[in-house]
Amino acid sequence: MSEKQINWCNCGRQYQEYWRIKENVYGLNFDPTAWAFEYRTITCHEEGRVLYITGQCSRCDGFMRSGVPVPTDMKGGDLLAYVYHEMEHYRPYDKYDEEFGIYYTFRRQRCQWYQQQDDLTPEERGKQFLRLFRAEDQAVVKDWLARNPRVEPYAKPRRDRKSTLFQHILETARAAGAITEAEAILDDIYPSECAPAVPEEDTHLTDYRFNLVPDIKISGHRIDLNLCLEGSFDNSFNRKTMIGTLTTLRVDQEACDLMKALGDTLAYYCCKYVNEEIHRYTPRRELEREADQK
Ligand SMILES: [Zn+2]
Repeated sequence: MSEKQINWCNCGRQYQEYWRIKENVYGLNFDPTAWAFEYRTITCHEEGRVLYITGQCSRCDGFMRSGVPVPTDMKGGDLLAYVYHEMEHYRPYDKYDEEFGIYYTFRRQRCQWYQQQDDLTPEERGKQFLRLFRAEDQAVVKDWLARNPRVEPYAKPRRDRKSTLFQHILETARAAGAITEAEAILDDIYPSECAPAVPEEDTHLTDYRFNLVPDIKISGHRIDLNLCLEGSFDNSFNRKTMIGTLTTLRVDQEACDLMKALGDTLAYYCCKYVNEEIHRYTPRRELEREADQK
């Protein structure tokens, strides 16, 4: 696409000193959707290479991009390592809360996109990284990725979010064929791909000392099965939180029994999953102690 064809965001451009307010315009309106790397070569030094997050303006739908310059005096593996690192960490306009794995933001969509970026597996990130480069450079990049596998620090494992735990519980129970009958009467599951969790509430779970407690609410026209965690699930003072809700619009004795049984089954699969992934749910201080003893 040539520069002329791009439908740039126009917000604030009427002001003479646009550059002064650009940061605010972006902070309030930038919704990221992808990465792009502007470069000519990866084998020599080069001026003006920029890694961009591209996206849209929430006000005017115009094109927006936010870039981080790549040092001129880099090439080969050093350059690739630099760009990869920026892709892992460049999250402009919002403040990251490392303890809970969330962002404080004006744009919920941006927060969600950043969290999705943070949650990518090394394989997914590798694929995304590869797409930044032109076809003729991809063999070199692939080779670099293979020679530089991402090693997770022992005391800083990838954490699950509340929504990730909920999805895992459902998937494992479903795969075991344990919830087929109950699923047949469900009308809604929240969170889901169509109705994602509120990003600033979808915090990391960093402790395993909790139980999943199913909580059934029956009203005139629906039964909600809320899945609650009770106990210690992160470093906050909260001792109870909800990770998801399954709803049926059938209200009769059989539906009640099915929903109750579904709650118990999911509590079992939660316990099983967390035990299998116990490292991911171990508090950081405990992991640091273990790492020191090794
Ligand atoms: Zn705009």
